[in-house]
Amino acid sequence: MSVSERTSQVHGSVLEAIGNTPVVRLERLFHGHDIVAKLEFMNPGGSIKDRMVRYMLRYLPAGVEHVVESSSGNTGAALAMAAAVRGLRCDVTLPDRTSREKMRRIEAYGAEVHMCASDVPEAHEASYHSMAERIAAEHGAFHLDQYRSALNRQAHYTDTAPELWFQLDGRIDCFVCGIGSGGTISGIGRFLKERDRRITVIGVEPLHSSYRAAVTGAVADGEFGSVIEGVGKRAPSGTFDADVVDDVIQVPDDDAVAWCHRLAREEGILAGGSSGCVAAGIARLLPKLSGRVVTVFPDSGVNYLSKYF
Ligand code: PMP
Repeated sequence: MSVSERTSQVHGSVLEAIGNTPVVRLERLFHGHDIVAKLEFMNPGGSIKDRMVRYMLRYLPAGVEHVVESSSGNTGAALAMAAAVRGLRCDVTLPDRTSREKMRRIEAYGAEVHMCASDVPEAHEASYHSMAERIAAEHGAFHLDQYRSALNRQAHYTDTAPELWFQLDGRIDCFVCGIGSGGTISGIGRFLKERDRRITVIGVEPLHSSYRAAVTGAVADGEFGSVIEGVGKRAPSGTFDADVVDDVIQVPDDDAVAWCHRLAREEGILAGGSSGCVAAGIARLLPKLSGRVVTVFPDSGVNYLSKYF
């Protein structure tokens, strides 16, 4: 490589270093099967949400100097990172079950964190969503609103999905994905279905979350209250597109944590609880799956060292 080619690899800011994350075969855990995971925790802000925030900020109205977002932590970190680069003021509202590591990461970027009740519906005045709306109204801040904005799923349709497709030369038989806001599965799911309708798209969520009922018509039961951060919702979010999802399975929290430990100890992949959740889901589905199964690991186990490890 010449000196000038090397120079051209210097990014103008950390935001340009988002993406191009590696895809790794889970050969030791699923020996004899073709299961691959895209390691999204290798993004500079620590998660897949870097992509969505970068995309959403392209549509930020001119003149906005203050941004706010309700988040399970990773969108908050991505936004706080981007706000630091762009010189924006940033507030992040989090449910109080969010890990300490994620909260401190957001503060480290210079954003302000507001802890809100976890055990209330979105519409409740104490929820992290209502708090973000209040900050937007009172301080004239712009609320990105990942749970309602179509830009969330569009980011994955435009950015994450084509990158994955090219990395795998279009060889994908099944896409299995955790569901939180639903942006990832909806955006990547639509892209894959448009390429080849035979690709199966399966969501994974904790017990008593609402997406399974939304997709299959099954009756929702029990009170949702998972300790796995980032996946599962009491009610489906506005960004979720059920049309591109074939099925959703539910995984107990204990299984998700156990698979998180196995990923670290047997694959050397230190991933977060939602990655453990999706790995547990793949293990359950394995007898029914054939061909290449693809997933994404949204964030790192470093976020939860004091919680799951
Ligand atoms: N895992 C983690 C750790 C997350 O932070 C999120 C985002 N809430 C997800 C999975 C789910 O991604 P999505 O919101 O796109 O459904």
